[in-house]
Amino acid sequence: MDLKLELPTPIHKLNESLNDNVFYIKREDLMHLSFGGNKLRKAILFFEDIVKKGADCVVTYGSKSSNHARIIANLSFANRLPCYIITPLNRNDTYNSVMVNLFNADIIYSQITEVKDTINDLLMQLKKDGFHPYFIQGGGHGDLGTQAYVNAYNEICNYEKTSAIFFDYIFFASGTGTTQAGLICGSIINTDQRNIIGISVARKNPDGKKIIVDSVNSFLNKYYMKNNYQVNATFVDDYILDGYGSYNKEILITVKDVLMNEGVPLDSTYTGKAYWGMKEYIKTNNIYNKNILFLHTGGLPLFFHDLIRLKNLENSYG
Ligand SMILES: *Cc1c(COP(=O)(O)O)cnc(C)c1O
Repeated sequence: MDLKLELPTPIHKLNESLNDNVFYIKREDLMHLSFGGNKLRKAILFFEDIVKKGADCVVTYGSKSSNHARIIANLSFANRLPCYIITPLNRNDTYNSVMVNLFNADIIYSQITEVKDTINDLLMQLKKDGFHPYFIQGGGHGDLGTQAYVNAYNEICNYEKTSAIFFDYIFFASGTGTTQAGLICGSIINTDQRNIIGISVARKNPDGKKIIVDSVNSFLNKYYMKNNYQVNATFVDDYILDGYGSYNKEILITVKDVLMNEGVPLDSTYTGKAYWGMKEYIKTNNIYNKNILFLHTGGLPLFFHDLIRLKNLENSYG
């Protein structure tokens, strides 16, 4: 398996014209392995580290909707590394969890409250049995995950230089906040000023924001500067609805509209929720005549669940 990504990922203009803004999209979903996305960009850095450290098995955490779990299980199998996925019991199968099974990952179910203990017990047992496990936090959280989105931020800056376009806003789906932390670090390192707006798909403030600020400080302290930087993160928790994985009719219609008008698949758990949230945010905050970049963070297998939901929606409205 060729773990070298062909970067930068493409940026292209959209037809979308809400409030006379000009919209662009960066296609993190168009990477060459396992349906791409932000979890792949992070995973590549983790797998480089796995090789460097000589680890011989991989342990991570992910729900049944997790794109991270799918990618880690896929890359582990292809690289002949045993893979253990800790999964909470409380969700239905998705195409992601079906693939995690297909990739022969060892799936360990756990109550939400016992996840931490389950992970620690497993790591201890593996070490006792003579293995060298490599642990990846859920969603690829941590400094390496942050690094992945510093890299993506630099790609955006390079695009701006060659195209003479400046993006006033970057919008995206924010979950563990690692993607957002990386973009903020990128902006600090490049000393530029723009609005980096994470649309939360699950977490609420103040926790959601705090985790991002902590990640930014952790990364900057480790690699760049020792003094604590005054970090601000715009983590918008107004569009979560009933939490992770919940959706409404407007989100499904957004997924449909973006597919039909732009030819770009989104999903209601991540990118579709964020795209809908972005438009609501633009309307609420009266944003006009700006250049706006939407970061497509991947999650393509989940789109197909929304396709079925859309069909049912059409049926129920005659
Ligand atoms: C995990 C995920 C996100 C959120 O990324 P974080 O770095 O965890 O904030 C957004 N979009 C998709 C498709 C994801 O799988």
